[in-house]
Amino acid sequence: MSTGLKQTADELIEVCNPRTGEIDYSFIRPDRASIAGHCRDLRAAQPGWAALDMRERAAILERWADAIEANAEALTEALVTDTGRFHIAAGEVASAPANLRRWCHHGPTLIEERRRQSKLVPTVELDEQLVPYPLLGVISPWNFPLILSLIDAVPALLAGCSVIIKPSEVTPRFIEPLKETIRSVPELDAVLDIVAGDGQTGADIIELVDMVCFTGSVATGKKVAVAAANRFIPAFLELGGKDPAVILPGADLDAAADAVLRGAVVATGQACLAQERVYVHESDFEEFVDLLVEKSEKVQLNYPDIMRGHIGPLIFGRQADIIDAHLDDAVGKGAAIRCGGKSENLGGGRYCRATVVTGVDHDMTLMREETFGPVMPVMAYSTVDEAVELANDTEFGLSGAVIGPNHEEAEAVARRINAGGMSVNDCALTRDTYEAEKNAFGFSGMGGSRMGDEGLLRFFRKKALLVQTGRPASMLA
Ligand code: NAD
Repeated sequence: MSTGLKQTADELIEVCNPRTGEIDYSFIRPDRASIAGHCRDLRAAQPGWAALDMRERAAILERWADAIEANAEALTEALVTDTGRFHIAAGEVASAPANLRRWCHHGPTLIEERRRQSKLVPTVELDEQLVPYPLLGVISPWNFPLILSLIDAVPALLAGCSVIIKPSEVTPRFIEPLKETIRSVPELDAVLDIVAGDGQTGADIIELVDMVCFTGSVATGKKVAVAAANRFIPAFLELGGKDPAVILPGADLDAAADAVLRGAVVATGQACLAQERVYVHESDFEEFVDLLVEKSEKVQLNYPDIMRGHIGPLIFGRQADIIDAHLDDAVGKGAAIRCGGKSENLGGGRYCRATVVTGVDHDMTLMREETFGPVMPVMAYSTVDEAVELANDTEFGLSGAVIGPNHEEAEAVARRINAGGMSVNDCALTRDTYEAEKNAFGFSGMGGSRMGDEGLLRFFRKKALLVQTGRPASMLA
């Protein structure tokens, strides 16, 4: 059967296995005509999908949740190969049905509760028509391939949009088993497509959709923003970060070191919301660093046994080069690596151990650019004002953390930090807590919140229906 793909050498995309360093997978990049065909089909099916009651769409999406559970083994296997890690991959697969069911239960109630009466003109009833954007394009990165492909797609489908998803070319193996789950729910199959492709495919998709949800780097996000602006379509951009953690005087340093280590090192630091800068009061500095080093040295690689240890390989080899360059730059400017260090090649995979760096300052790329590895540069401050100034000395503003002697003091400092999601007396809570709405500050993103109720409401254009229940006013009265 013709797929509309041209099998020329420059359209073959080869994919490296993160554990072996070998190319063990390849696919053909779809050309623009093929993407246009996908989008045409999705558009044709969308009015029928949008015409269903939201509870009917929710019932269909719950069948998809069941199908994902039924196909969990194949999906997990593919995701394990994509990312080189087992427990996080299994967790991604387990969270997909949970995310679907959460929206299916909450979404319809949220929408039904929106009717209101005007306070300005009491005879006017305010009704609204929620008109879904017909076709959403989702473009996702490689660090959490499944979660970040579905996080926007699920509420958009519930809203009544058709969706085309393009995951990262670095992690495409999970696409086929996910497609199988979609095919098993025919009503869904008509309105949801997932295509393997690279940056060119992403750029093609933006030319063909009515709205784009992009998760990825700031550099690509800027290109996406410009392309979307040229077409006057909304772009929701979830980009990189350089999240600070501020440890206040009087904090429990042992608990703080545990929180920082988890916030920075889980998923080998390949998380947008990872703690990438740590500021500690000068009187606590050495004790905190000693604790952090002691705990970091206990973090084991998932090598050679993927089922043992704590952290896997770097998924994308180029990221290992970036981590090494940041460490080289820091050491070249006087920093000291207290444990861990540059990436290691083990069995062909690139690994990086939990790494603590001191003697850092804001002239180093390690303190300014996203490292995206398990690296914790720790810097001393002398006043809380200075700590806030350092935390805010960044072009990013995704999230951050403040740990203090009590909630009140820590929250007061968290309120002064320019970031969309602040963890108080812990780190990286936005990883698990989806209820709170948050916007990215600075270059960490643009557009409404993907968390909380707005995560669903942003997929509608809101049409106001203003119903006069009294007699229309006369200009002659
Ligand atoms: P990336 O920007 O290189 O790629 C992201 C996606 O964009 C990929 O699917 C890629 O194929 C596609 N793409 C590339 N060029 C494109 C173009 N011109 N037009 C459209 N699409 C294009 O990012 P990455 O390296 O895959 O992911 C890591 C980055 O993602 C990090 O910066 C990380 O912080 C960020 N991230 C952010 C969040 C968040 O919620 N804020 C979550 C996870 C990851």
